[in-house]
Amino acid sequence: MFGPGQYVPDPTEGIIDVKDLPAPQLGFYRRNHQQTPCPRCGQLASRHKADQRTLHDLGDVSTGRPVDLLVTYSSHHCSTCKKYFNIDLSDLAPPGSHYTNRVIDLTVRVVVEDGVPYRPASWHLWRDHRVFVPFATIQNWVETGGKKGARSHPRRVFGVGA
Ligand SMILES: [Zn+2]
Repeated sequence: MFGPGQYVPDPTEGIIDVKDLPAPQLGFYRRNHQQTPCPRCGQLASRHKADQRTLHDLGDVSTGRPVDLLVTYSSHHCSTCKKYFNIDLSDLAPPGSHYTNRVIDLTVRVVVEDGVPYRPASWHLWRDHRVFVPFATIQNWVETGGKKGARSHPRRVFGVGA
């Protein structure tokens, strides 16, 4: 008989290839409007197409799987400014980012409030929140004050024991 305090390691511990992590569950979000105000002149601009981007969100700790948010968004053309632009998604994620704002905010809190170095922070985020963020991306967020997309795929996923 083991008590409730028995140590059970995370089943993904020691994985060294990101492809071996559990596959993401998909979430869906739409912000696909016929019209939206132009960020330059404020006039309503018509949609000319819709597009999609994938955002890594906080994962599902009950299933142990990460969550990818598939975002459908509209792209618009302002006839006054003669410019194309995408509908504003900055409340969801920074422009060009592969992660949602809440992942970035939580990550920066883990590093700043708890004083966790980047590599262990990467493991912490995966273990406790099921979102994989390469440590170089964490470093980029923290050192640029967050809100900046970065792409980095180190060979070692978490660097545990490295
Ligand atoms: Zn305009």
